[in-house]
Amino acid sequence: MLQLVRQQRTRYTKRQKNRMDIKVIRSRKRMRTVSARVEQDTLIVHAPAILPQERLDKIVLDFKSRFERKKLKEDLKKKQDLAQVAAGLNAKYFGNQLKINSIEYVTTQNRKFGCCDYTQARIRISHRIGLMPAWVRDYVVVHEMAHLIEPNHSRAFWNIVFRYRLAERAKGYLMAAFRNSDL
Ligand SMILES: [Zn+2]
Repeated sequence: MLQLVRQQRTRYTKRQKNRMDIKVIRSRKRMRTVSARVEQDTLIVHAPAILPQERLDKIVLDFKSRFERKKLKEDLKKKQDLAQVAAGLNAKYFGNQLKINSIEYVTTQNRKFGCCDYTQARIRISHRIGLMPAWVRDYVVVHEMAHLIEPNHSRAFWNIVFRYRLAERAKGYLMAAFRNSDL
């Protein structure tokens, strides 16, 4: 498991590309519900005329971050297939011995780079990692894959992880980016 320090999160968010325009349409006819959809990178929100601005702002922000996360996840999936990445690393560093049931990006992991449910052989990687250089991503994937053999950060665990030549450099990269000591 890789922890992510909270204070650095904002900095990273600013670097995200998936910006979205917002168009709010107030309607007198609409009495209760707020709805939203995305059309060509614009978030279109329909809201009742009587809804207080402050509440609407909050709802719009929620919609926006939900759609942005969804889009980012889809973009990452298109750009890099994690199952394929893991298969390559499995061949190179684990002699194809690991069986992974699923490996995917998640946008809900705010404090962790990755996590591994070793009983189910499921790995989740934070979408933040997908935005980093491939060799850093590979380190995180190798790290989580190694947890399938060694659940804890034991000496044996690190011996496996350091089969990956750039492990130390990637740890340094992540530490510098997130001032994190538990990598
Ligand atoms: Zn770990």
